Amino acid sequence: MTLVSMKEMLERAKKQRYAVGQFNVNGLSWVHAILDGAQEEDAPVIVAASDRLIDFLGGYRLVANMVRTLAEEKGITVPVALHLDHGKSVESCFRAIDAGFTSVMYDGSHDPIELNVRDTRKVVEYAGAHGVSVEAEVGTVGGMEDGLIGGISYADLGECVRIVRDTGIDALAAALGSVHGKYVGEPKLGFAEMEAVSKAVGVPLVLHGASGIPTHQLHRAIQLGHAKVNINTECVTVWSEQLRRTLDEDRETTEPRKILTPARDAIRHAVREKIREFGSSGRAGAAGNPERMPAGEREDAGVQPLA
Ligand SMILES: [Zn+2]
Repeated sequence: MTLVSMKEMLERAKKQRYAVGQFNVNGLSWVHAILDGAQEEDAPVIVAASDRLIDFLGGYRLVANMVRTLAEEKGITVPVALHLDHGKSVESCFRAIDAGFTSVMYDGSHDPIELNVRDTRKVVEYAGAHGVSVEAEVGTVGGMEDGLIGGISYADLGECVRIVRDTGIDALAAALGSVHGKYVGEPKLGFAEMEAVSKAVGVPLVLHGASGIPTHQLHRAIQLGHAKVNINTECVTVWSEQLRRTLDEDRETTEPRKILTPARDAIRHAVREKIREFGSSGRAGAAGNPERMPAGEREDAGVQPLA
């Protein structure tokens, strides 16, 4: 079992119009649930650790070893990328790469575009030498990002083109109306802007804050070039709801396995549901192992266009 970069899995997903799920890790239960869920769906998957949670999780090396070792112990055969989500600095991206992450996001979206391009390029150079893929961000996704609550600021088309052209990133997170955390009311994604950005940049787009976006909007975003969809809120919600239920139902129990297993299963079910919604179920062969590619796979078999 080797962890892979997300470059090939995203390029293939974009071409065949489905999306690979990125699921964030908040502890060991998540690693179990995400790996098992992806394996059961025969889907490529991106396991992510948010840079802001790295200390809580035990550090870059621990996260990398935890994911790699657990994937080996479980005999996972689907392609797995280990990705740093919202890398806070060039230095933290370097540290994640040194620790064994196979993909990093450098988030310089809060800086002026000149700085964002300069720093993203440093990350791309280092990552390239290690076979690691890089995602960058332009604009501001609403809600909580990097621990800061902020409003939505749409990605500028010219800045999107510039960062892709001048850095050679593998995927672009362009803020187009999505929000981290829970949505208040119906999400309003900018589909016209999305189409323009997607056509202009060429690389796969990444949808941040996808938890709570209705399926029809999600499918439209995938049709318009989103090959990676990030999920965290849905998994932490089902996990905490199940944990409360389990503790309420048996107020005497102190057995960790009894308390934690149903919550872990709830994450696994949520992961499987999302993978099916993204159209990446059964795509493990197509994403990384050519010998496992299903016979007669159609180029257009992903998420179908909307009528
Ligand atoms: Zn994000």
